[in-house]
Amino acid sequence: MTDVITLHLPEEPRNGQSRDATPRERRYYVWTVGCQMNVSDSERLEAALQGVGYAPAERPEDASFIVLNSCSVRASAEERILGKLSEVQRIKRKHPDTKIVLWGCMVGPGNQSIFQDRLPMVDHFVSPSAVDEVLALAPNPIYQLDEPALPVARWDHPPVSVHVPIQYGCNMSCSFCVIPLRRGRERSRPLEEIVEECRRIVARGAKEITLLGQIVDSWGHDLPGRPDLADLLRAVHEIPGLLRLRFLTSHPAWMTDRLIAAVAELPRCMPDINLPVQAGDDALLKIMRRGYTVQRYRDLIAKIRDAIPDVSLTTDVIVGHPGETRERFEGTKRLLEEIRFDKVHIAAFSARPGTRAAEMERDPALAVPEGEKQLRRIELERLQERIATERNARFLHQTVEVLVEGEHKGKWRGRTPGNKLVFFSDPHDWTGQLVKVRITRTSPWSLQGVLAQPVEAPPELNGVPDELEHVPAVQGAVA
Ligand code: SF4
Repeated sequence: MTDVITLHLPEEPRNGQSRDATPRERRYYVWTVGCQMNVSDSERLEAALQGVGYAPAERPEDASFIVLNSCSVRASAEERILGKLSEVQRIKRKHPDTKIVLWGCMVGPGNQSIFQDRLPMVDHFVSPSAVDEVLALAPNPIYQLDEPALPVARWDHPPVSVHVPIQYGCNMSCSFCVIPLRRGRERSRPLEEIVEECRRIVARGAKEITLLGQIVDSWGHDLPGRPDLADLLRAVHEIPGLLRLRFLTSHPAWMTDRLIAAVAELPRCMPDINLPVQAGDDALLKIMRRGYTVQRYRDLIAKIRDAIPDVSLTTDVIVGHPGETRERFEGTKRLLEEIRFDKVHIAAFSARPGTRAAEMERDPALAVPEGEKQLRRIELERLQERIATERNARFLHQTVEVLVEGEHKGKWRGRTPGNKLVFFSDPHDWTGQLVKVRITRTSPWSLQGVLAQPVEAPPELNGVPDELEHVPAVQGAVA
């Protein structure tokens, strides 16, 4: 069954009460850690819970249904969940009728029985993305959803930028990664369903959509007719009112010429590609089971830069993976110097149970000592800070186009086409608008500037067409 889609969600509870009058027995509390996929799953769950008559609680003690959406990519994320579980355990002691669900990547096939002994306060364990399973556990629904709910249903005014999952799971077997064990095989959502969801989100007021997948560029290979991400980008790109389109996260093995050409050709598809490399050494890439060499990655970057000259490139790197000698680490440093990414997400290796790398970590001949891992992480962060400082300096005194997302500490915050964060001050509210900002200060992390002038959207993008303006928040089938 699909996790997503439409709905018969009342704007307000049908008994005429305001949501504030909803009793504790129909209050939920959803707490989320981890990646954008988890955030998106939680948004869907909240939409569904509101659809069956629940209302959100600000604090867990005010809710009878508590859902913790977990992440297990790093040990530190699991520690945060365990801390939160202690907190909700205290609530359960005071209110024994509270139902607690542990959801997400910590819960995988085969580990539920272990958790049942260790975490007696949890009533139910549910695998990642199974929104309908969590919904079925809510003890006091007053309505039934004819179809699963879209997050847009609970947004009168959706955020300017919305993430839409297009694919679940991952078929790869990277040595260090627990996601295939927890999220299962790849499942692509049908093109029509995704386009319809995006159309509804934009009709409600969102301006930017980021298509989300574990290997987003492999989307469609499991669907009839094998459409690809280039087809999907072209279809979503045509939605009236959409200003910007992005996708996240790509894998080098699936980045095709067709996809690069689509990004280059489509004016509302942003020149912004995240392409995790993980390491800059062939032997290490082989140990990691990444499926490409440094040279192949280098050639791919050259091809992307050739087709999209102003592209912003970001990557992910793991340091201290078992088998990473000092020499192999130096290869990663050299690659970062050579490619000069706009941003690098750097993580010190953290062994995840059940992965191949966790087994390797037990071998002292292969494991990198913890202190050395952290030193390498800091070394790489310093290197990247210098590169990002230099790369961002090219924007000084330039005028850039910014989509304003909202306010942050008294300034307007938005992003350039290349996803650089920009801050500027102005008395008017520019949320959701494209504006031009002249950059007056740069740093490795963001740009500061002054408003140059608002940017007129092309005529066909101005506002939302009449027929979309009246699309009800909740209605109709998507698939
Ligand atoms: S491609 Fe590798 S790192 Fe990415 S989700 Fe799949 S297994 Fe994990």
